[in-house]
Amino acid sequence: MNEIDVSALMREFRAIENKTIGKIIYIIIPVVAQCPNCHGSGEVDYVSCSGEKYCISCPVCDGKGEVNCDPENPETKFKVITDKITGVDLVSRSGLRFAHFDSNWGLVLENIYFDKEEAQKACDRKNYEAVHWKELLKEKYK
Ligand SMILES: [Zn+2]
Repeated sequence: MNEIDVSALMREFRAIENKTIGKIIYIIIPVVAQCPNCHGSGEVDYVSCSGEKYCISCPVCDGKGEVNCDPENPETKFKVITDKITGVDLVSRSGLRFAHFDSNWGLVLENIYFDKEEAQKACDRKNYEAVHWKELLKEKYK
């Protein structure tokens, strides 16, 4: 049985680290967050003057369960932020650690870009899909 060559693995690991550390990257992140009022359910309990209990649509998020953190652009669901790779992290989903962004957040590699324009293009596409998903679905199953 072959033994695992730990030092070779470590050399490989360091090589990846040296190639990526300090690189500026662009990450697409969602601007929407779970509604703090209904905790994402879209409904809240309401007690009338006569004591009757109702379940009503959440007035904070309009029953959507999420709120937009960018009130000036209510149609925007995603935005691009700039960050820097600070390390390789085998535990995180993307395999990377960042200067500002919490790598434990569950970031996937498809949302990380080395090119700003490419990131913005992908972000615009995600925003378009988020707003026009019904039309896109219809188009797909025509
Ligand atoms: Zn709500």
